[in-house]
Amino acid sequence: METKYIFVTGGVVSSLGKGIISSSLACLLKARGFKVTIQKFDPYINIDPGTLNPYEHGECYVTVDGHEADLDLGHYERFTNIQTTRANNITSGRIYQSVINKERRGDYLGKTVQVIPHITDEIKRNIKLLGNTGKFDFVITEIGGTVGDIESLPYLESVRQLRWELGDNCACVHLTYVPYVSAAKELKTKPTQHSVKKLQELGIQPDVLVLRTEQNIPVEMRRKIALFCNVAPDAVIQSIDVPTIYEVPIKMHEQHFDEIVLRKTRTSFEGEPDMTQWMQFLHKMNAAEKQVHIGLVGKYVELPDAYKSINEALLQSAIYNDRKLDLKFIQSEKLNDSNVGEVLAGLDGVLIAPGFGQRGVEGKFSAIKWCRENDVPTFGICLGMQSMVIEFARNVLSLPEANSTEMNPTTPDNVIDLMEEQKTISTMGGSMRLGSYDCQIAANSLAAKAYGKTLVSERHRHRFDLNNDYRKRLEENGMACVGINPDTDLVEVVEIPGKRWFLGVQYHPEYSSTVLNPHPLFIDFVKAAVEYSETK
Ligand code: GLN
Repeated sequence: METKYIFVTGGVVSSLGKGIISSSLACLLKARGFKVTIQKFDPYINIDPGTLNPYEHGECYVTVDGHEADLDLGHYERFTNIQTTRANNITSGRIYQSVINKERRGDYLGKTVQVIPHITDEIKRNIKLLGNTGKFDFVITEIGGTVGDIESLPYLESVRQLRWELGDNCACVHLTYVPYVSAAKELKTKPTQHSVKKLQELGIQPDVLVLRTEQNIPVEMRRKIALFCNVAPDAVIQSIDVPTIYEVPIKMHEQHFDEIVLRKTRTSFEGEPDMTQWMQFLHKMNAAEKQVHIGLVGKYVELPDAYKSINEALLQSAIYNDRKLDLKFIQSEKLNDSNVGEVLAGLDGVLIAPGFGQRGVEGKFSAIKWCRENDVPTFGICLGMQSMVIEFARNVLSLPEANSTEMNPTTPDNVIDLMEEQKTISTMGGSMRLGSYDCQIAANSLAAKAYGKTLVSERHRHRFDLNNDYRKRLEENGMACVGINPDTDLVEVVEIPGKRWFLGVQYHPEYSSTVLNPHPLFIDFVKAAVEYSETK
């Protein structure tokens, strides 16, 4: 079949969950047997979100091909179980860079290079890139930002032009907000009307309206919105707050979201999407009664979006272990050897988060020491794993000044050091070791048991690494290096045999944990936490 393009825009306010709506639609279409991909177009000028502070945009997600991406790509993968790549996340920075490069090459010789048509043509070319591969029946394009933003204008103009070019092979979904004004005890439709008007002024008539709301929107109100906004009444659907985002595809299907889109794009279909496995997951979630108490030690804990993929991987793993997740965010900056016992008391497992820089890192060492000595299941990811090695060097190898050269460039015991290949790189952005690399896992290790295999490929985002000069001493004293990159000999996984569960990974398993395919290390970590809770 010809590739169909679905555009998802947002109005009224940001943070309405366009990513979740796009992911839910993709999830339903995939469950009907269609080949689907989702891409995000971000209107900011940064080339990629790699250099953005997590406080501004939340977690930086990493694709298998090593692209530092918007966190929405994480939702896409978790909901669809389909991997994304660099091509699934475009920013204005990349669009402009490409146009400027073409201008310098002389491709537009004699012409004035302008937003229309040059920038819009480049946007349209990028929107169609994945579709042109012939691999997809549906390409869902989420436009970042909110209708009315100056920087979104070239994207919306491109969508307007594409609607003409694509005809029936295209549908526009607009997500808005219907606030409940408690003083008046009323839901208000005016912001939605204004937002759709704004879109119409730009020449785009939405085909489907998804209304985010905290209260049920009565049918008459939806009809009124349909009338004012020129949208078919059955194509005005609500997205009411639900206890978990994983219920959204089901709620959307109940209102025929997938069918509306299929009809709009004149796609033939029959029957219902096969959501059996998804429903099993939801049933497990609703049936779980007992809790598992996990602590997440990191410095960005005030903004849980900074650890989005870890939160979701833990949640999925708790459900597969028939537990409700009780996740306690622990600010590592406030942790020290004297208060750690009190703060971590009662936890069944502790996850030491990834991160950069000195701030809060000493608190991570305190947490690790306490967990190691009290034999609490502990999972270190990236900087978390490096911190496990530093703590072990300081307190078991008796090297009190052991550190990473990231934190102390002149440490006498650089147990974590800059990788050779990183020493010559000075530009910011994309300068880390990124994306998937192979890792050979030692048979009989905890990791091998969890994975059920000994060769894995996992995603990375780091500059520093375990210094192999210390490997022998670490091993002799009880820290086993059980995961090694077969090409570079870099240590990828460490564990302490004999402990309940004490394991650190240089890579990021959280990025590849999905609803239908949760990550085995997370599953095994939470399983160990559950088992530990039962001994207490
Ligand atoms: N700062 C560390 C490094 O660059 C760890 C990075 C991370 O945790 N993602 O190696």
